[in-house]
Amino acid sequence: MKWLGGLVEAAGVNVFKEFGGAELVYQGQSLAGVITEDKGLDKNGKPKDNYTPGYELRAKVTVLAEGTRGSLTKKLVAEKKLDNINPQSYGIGIKELWDVQPGRMEPGYVAHTLGWPVSTDMYGGGWIYGLSNNRVSIGLVLALEYANPEFDPHAAFQKWKTHPFVKNILDGGKLVRYGAKSLPYGGWYAMPRNTVDGALIIGDSGSFLDSQRLKGIHLAMKSGMLAAETIFEALKTGDTTTKTLGKFKNRVEQSYIRDELWKVRNFHQSFQHGMLRGFIQTAFQQISGGRGLVDPMRAEVGYKQYKKLDGTKRAANSEERFKGDGKLTFDRLTDVYHSGTRHNEDQPCHLHVLDTNICVTRCVEEYGNPCQYFCPAAVYEMAKETSGAMKLKINFANCVHCKTCDIADPYQIIDWVVPEGGGGPTYEGM
Ligand code: SF4
Repeated sequence: MKWLGGLVEAAGVNVFKEFGGAELVYQGQSLAGVITEDKGLDKNGKPKDNYTPGYELRAKVTVLAEGTRGSLTKKLVAEKKLDNINPQSYGIGIKELWDVQPGRMEPGYVAHTLGWPVSTDMYGGGWIYGLSNNRVSIGLVLALEYANPEFDPHAAFQKWKTHPFVKNILDGGKLVRYGAKSLPYGGWYAMPRNTVDGALIIGDSGSFLDSQRLKGIHLAMKSGMLAAETIFEALKTGDTTTKTLGKFKNRVEQSYIRDELWKVRNFHQSFQHGMLRGFIQTAFQQISGGRGLVDPMRAEVGYKQYKKLDGTKRAANSEERFKGDGKLTFDRLTDVYHSGTRHNEDQPCHLHVLDTNICVTRCVEEYGNPCQYFCPAAVYEMAKETSGAMKLKINFANCVHCKTCDIADPYQIIDWVVPEGGGGPTYEGM
């Protein structure tokens, strides 16, 4: 992003950094731009001395490229009913960079793993990439569609590192960076309608990711290039409605994006009920150009896969959570420190829980508050108040912006909104 930003600025484009789009602006039924977030509000939402209200940025065409589960894209898709036949499916990727002992890893080395430490009813796998100067990139990607609401993706990743194959590489090395990010697995059949009057949706926000190869950068860039061509034509004709912007879809269908995504159009759905069934389904897809036994294969939203607890669950005790040995494996707060994330703590919380009553009534009983487990940055905590009552505590300054909470909350009451611009993880070298 930094690299690309430098290139476009050198080409004469203005890039406004550290402003998040907070609201959509409409003119009639057309999207007309965005309003950026207010800056300089205190934690109670009151203006401080440096208060600057958000800017209303109007444009003939607005391009939403917010990454996975974009907060404005989510609103636009819901408001304009842009969903495809399948809802989007998501995974969470947790990653660390290590400096390892000389001789442990060749630059360019690539290894992928499947399964362990997760059970066969889940879908996930890891990677090990050798970078230059003894640096190694490792990570685990897990589908956010599992049954156990107490499953902890961060702890699973730490366990994965204890496999002798991974451990031998990392032994004596040093953790240098940490990060987490969600990704859209849904592919072709979960791609939202990507154009409305005055706007286009591209990149991860538009489901441009190959779920088989887990690669999306090339597709995101190509979708941006095709959007640019479409907008150029629309501006020349003076028509920025879907009549002209709708040609974006034709361009996508005539590009390598369609070739690549069509072949894997049923891939991820095949694994929604575990790996074994997935292997059988995808074997048929391999020999039938992606068709398989059922086409289109339907998918369910991931958070509906949680199984309710049996009523014996109590709120998690932080003392019982994964601690790590401090050398090979780490707790979440140590990892958060290595993400370099920072937010001004005197600002409104950017994680809106729309009804915290549900957390202490239904959710604790039915699911044991899964936000405490799926968040890889220890943001959500059920804490005991002096009265003895439990309350949801949100340590928003830890947030690494992975969006998992917005995706995986069983009641869909967590709304991730943009924090004050500039806050968030520092993903240098990630
Ligand atoms: Fe990810 Fe949500 Fe936790 Fe932030 S609060 S790190 S977006 S799960």
